[in-house]
Amino acid sequence: RIAVLGSTNMDLVAYTARAPGRGETVTGREFRTTPGGKGANQAVAAARAGGEVMMIGAVGDDVYGTRLREGLEHAGVDTDLLHTAEGPSGTAHIVVDDTGSNAIVVVPGANGVVTTLGPGEIAAIAASEILLMQLELPLSAAVEGSRAARAQGVRTILTPAPVQPLPDELLDHIDLLVPNEHEAAELSGQDEPHAAAQILLRRVPEVIVTLGAKGCLYAARGGEPVLFAAPSVTAVDTTGAGDTFVGTLAVALGEGRPVAEAVAFASSAAALCVQKPGASTSMPYRSEIEAV
Ligand code: ADP
Repeated sequence: RIAVLGSTNMDLVAYTARAPGRGETVTGREFRTTPGGKGANQAVAAARAGGEVMMIGAVGDDVYGTRLREGLEHAGVDTDLLHTAEGPSGTAHIVVDDTGSNAIVVVPGANGVVTTLGPGEIAAIAASEILLMQLELPLSAAVEGSRAARAQGVRTILTPAPVQPLPDELLDHIDLLVPNEHEAAELSGQDEPHAAAQILLRRVPEVIVTLGAKGCLYAARGGEPVLFAAPSVTAVDTTGAGDTFVGTLAVALGEGRPVAEAVAFASSAAALCVQKPGASTSMPYRSEIEAV
């Protein structure tokens, strides 16, 4: 089983020719609401890829909360430990202009109340093979979750996004860190992925730096780094690629597959995701991943 300790957000996306300046109003062309949040996205990716997934976190007691929960359940994610908190759900307010550039305000809402874990959450983590975390919940929850996981020998995987300085009390309990190229550079002070990975290995035993269309770099303490190429595909929308990669990687690792095989599975899944528009809507099912 995979436990995801993370965020759920409703993405509210306005499409407009040109983003408004300060004090200005522009008329947009289109509006869409899509379920998101890195935690929920990774949970959906893992469930579609065949994982038994439990989501730990919180939605608000508003209409978005209901839809976010239903979306996860529809994907087959267990939401028994997804709490309903008083107040608004997490929201991401996104403006996309005709050049494809975006400006985003994320309001954590209910995600922000997940500062500590109860006995139910701790027990669920302890009963899992893998704990997936990102940084869209309060850091204190991630610290507690990772500590509980480590105490029970549960493998912990952290996506360090949104990127921020990471305290030892968190990294000391992380088995595998999966930053993208930008996050790896930010965390290590090294732009070059190999160099960045070597720095990060001082703090965690295994690192995978994802490199977009170039694939990913796997590095472990005491071993030679390995570069895995991504399948060559035509990308339409790379939103959710990183979350698809991590969610499906967790499924393969949870099945006891070696890293090289798990990375191949995750790379196939992420390559399928980028060929369709949207984030969670474009995540592939297991049969589709196995077909490529
Ligand atoms: P993020 O979405 O977090 O910024 P990346 O852009 O590094 O992360 O993408 C994560 C993974 O998704 C990559 O390691 C790769 O496997 C896959 N991927 C991303 N973009 C492409 C692409 N254009 N073609 C094929 N695979 C891709």
